[in-house]
Amino acid sequence: MKRWFSLQMQTRQTAHARTYRCVPTWLSLGACLGALLLQSLASQVNALELQGKWQQGGMLMGKVAPGSQVRLGKTLLPVTPKGEFVLGLGRNAPASATLVIADDEGEHSHQFTVEQRQYAIQRIEGVPQRTVTPPESVLARIRSEGAAVSRARRKASQRMDFLTGFSLPLEGPITGVYGSQRVFNGVPKNPHYGLDIAGPEGALVHAPISGVVKLVHRDMYYSGGTLIVDHGYGISSTFIHLSDILVAEGDEIQRGDPIAKVGSTGRATGPHLDWRINWHQVRLDPAVVLESFPFSDSGSSSDSGDSGLDLNAQIDEAVAPAVWAGEGENAETGPTQ
Ligand SMILES: [Zn+2]
Repeated sequence: MKRWFSLQMQTRQTAHARTYRCVPTWLSLGACLGALLLQSLASQVNALELQGKWQQGGMLMGKVAPGSQVRLGKTLLPVTPKGEFVLGLGRNAPASATLVIADDEGEHSHQFTVEQRQYAIQRIEGVPQRTVTPPESVLARIRSEGAAVSRARRKASQRMDFLTGFSLPLEGPITGVYGSQRVFNGVPKNPHYGLDIAGPEGALVHAPISGVVKLVHRDMYYSGGTLIVDHGYGISSTFIHLSDILVAEGDEIQRGDPIAKVGSTGRATGPHLDWRINWHQVRLDPAVVLESFPFSDSGSSSDSGDSGLDLNAQIDEAVAPAVWAGEGENAETGPTQ
């Protein structure tokens, strides 16, 4: 991996966990590394490499000596044969996280500060009222669709697509962001977990990363045309409100393949792609993931972090009108909240 940086940390026994206030943006990287290297003593005990952001909605990839065990809190994380692992932080992840690495040398604990975020409130008028207050008659359908989505993400495969980074599945104005509190037709509902990218009806959606298709559903109540792709080790992408899906369950897809078409099916007010990234059932922020892990062509060792997404600029102009904003993908969310 070209963009890995290494935090060669002198670690201590669990009882003396140390706190690293190290948010590994490239700006602060120099300062962090300097401080950590100073702390490092001659006897290196299990090295830990990390990339990504300790931030709500963030994804981190790490590397340990092959054969090591890694735990996030109490959760045992699967580790690739080369020692790589991935983890994600949810919208409301607590302010501190602990990674425990166990190997022949013993068990070592590392504590990290998770940046806490403020989420905007987004008011959206004009979605079909039946998708805001669904009638009794559709509650069973909503539940079964939610269960299907959950099931599609339940079994983590050992694919390693996630290691290659992501590219944008569609170019267009950002009309909805991760985490925002949603008020539909005046009714407060669940937060939004996707990145909404507006595009014309029928525009092609390209695979942001390779994977295998886990779920194809053409008409879910909230999310309309719904596609879930597995990238391995619990990382999956979800694409919703699609007007058409060009792949079938079980298909292997490559980055860049046309996989679906933009639509406005389900709870949406206009054509857009809602792209979501999960780590198992934990919902991540695609914008943060893209920023941390942009795909770069093999051979290029560019560190520019250019994901093609000028996030700050696009979010600013998108917050007010929210014309295309949609919600959906009813997994884990009940009909009322
Ligand atoms: Zn959306």
